[in-house]
Amino acid sequence: MTSQFTAGLTVDLATSVPTDLYINGQWVPAADGGTFSVINPANNQALTSVASACEQDVLSAIAAAHDAGHSWASFSPRARAEILRKAFELMIEYKDVIARLISLEEGKTHAEALGEVGYAAEFFRWYAEEACRDQGTFMRAPSGANNILVKNQPVGVCLLITPWNFPAAMGTRKIAPALAAGCTTILKPASETPLTALYLAQLLEQAGVPAGVVNVIPSKRSSMVSEVSLSDSRVRKISFTGSTEVGRLLLAKASERVVNCSMELGGNAPFIVLEDADMAVAVDSAMVAKMRNAGESCIGANRFYVHHSRAEEFSSGLAQAMKALVLGDGMKEGVDVGPLVNASTINKVEQLVDQAIELGAKVLTGGSRIAGPGFFYQPTVLVDIPKHADILREEIFGPVAPIVTFTSQDEVIEAANDTVFGLAAYVIGANVGNALAVAEKLEAGVLGVNRGFISDPAAPFGGVKQSGIGREGSQDGLHEFTEKKYIAIDW
Ligand code: NAD
Repeated sequence: MTSQFTAGLTVDLATSVPTDLYINGQWVPAADGGTFSVINPANNQALTSVASACEQDVLSAIAAAHDAGHSWASFSPRARAEILRKAFELMIEYKDVIARLISLEEGKTHAEALGEVGYAAEFFRWYAEEACRDQGTFMRAPSGANNILVKNQPVGVCLLITPWNFPAAMGTRKIAPALAAGCTTILKPASETPLTALYLAQLLEQAGVPAGVVNVIPSKRSSMVSEVSLSDSRVRKISFTGSTEVGRLLLAKASERVVNCSMELGGNAPFIVLEDADMAVAVDSAMVAKMRNAGESCIGANRFYVHHSRAEEFSSGLAQAMKALVLGDGMKEGVDVGPLVNASTINKVEQLVDQAIELGAKVLTGGSRIAGPGFFYQPTVLVDIPKHADILREEIFGPVAPIVTFTSQDEVIEAANDTVFGLAAYVIGANVGNALAVAEKLEAGVLGVNRGFISDPAAPFGGVKQSGIGREGSQDGLHEFTEKKYIAIDW
């Protein structure tokens, strides 16, 4: 279905949002006619259905991206930059529609979705600026023997796979640097949230992105998409955001042809409240770090470590703030927290909380799901958690804050680092020098000191240990899509 898009405060799914595959600048149904339903997590009802790419569609998308590659790479950096700048402007112009789509298919509140659109659009603006910089270097060899010319050139065709939790931002964080670098792309969005990605494809077309440069292929058969793509010699790069479990499978597959990999994977962020913390800063930052997107964030605070002398104060402050939140359909006015995205996500949250309670944890607020049909889980604060509870080791991905106490900084640093993950961490302390000293010792790629909001397109975002390889955002994000070519010259 090809459709016109309309700006406005409501989203007419029947007329405003494409539901076909976007391949080589055309909207096409799946070659085998396959479709799948997109569910509204607020009521577990189907919103619409979208085309589900089959093997033939994946090959068509690879061919389109490959054929468009030389032409796109030969666009001047300025020409690519201006298209990206236009994409930024269109996202801002249509921010309400995009935000409503995000709320409908993902569940977050409209206010949060608007925040996501702003953040997502910034990647186009940032990489419109970066596209014209950092084209390479030239130097004379220190020995004087020759000249060293280094060019940054596009990697080539990129497979981009994104998760559902930030349907716009996780896409633009990859598409914008890839296009700035001169790469062509195939985006496979999460099956829970394909509508936002398809709508973005429509905006990119309007911004002037040529046919074949961005292809969007939702598919219910994710592993088929990666198998076919990573087996094809025309695909030179995979950039994946999602769970560590799936990241490992993709790394193994990519190793067969030594495909260039960027991996943004899972997290288990510690949030540390030091003895001298300003309690208002601690609670406010904890609310942001925990409750962004109802807790469904890779950098979401997963474990709270609070100095024992401040534990009572922090726990009651956090419980009070969590209790005051209004849970409901994210599309409705006055709602602070929307539903979780699907049944498996809420089931996992429920299991982790139930196990912690069975092991002796005490519930300060929340502690259970709300009866359906949507996937609503109460904002929850738990204390007295035994060390071996799964909730301290696994990514919760829900609105649950488990609080543990500590006595010494060495003890808390050891506990915080006792995980295979290393994405985000937070430290709250009035003595900034001391808080920074703690931050220095934490094994994480992204840290917040005295703040809970840490995402910024201008900053390098990514994990250490099993949280990933590579960085998105900043100048580093562009380099994920370039390869260096060194030429030794005499003249
Ligand atoms: P997921 O790994 O289940 O899925 C991510 C994407 O991979 C989706 O598009 C999915 O369809 C696809 N996929 C699933 N199995 C696949 C396979 N075998 N082969 C190829 N593709 C496959 O993750 P999710 O549930 O969508 O997202 C939540 C996870 O993503 C969490 O672990 C979260 O921490 C992580 N995440 C990380 C970042 C980051 O920047 N580090 C950002 C957001 C989310």
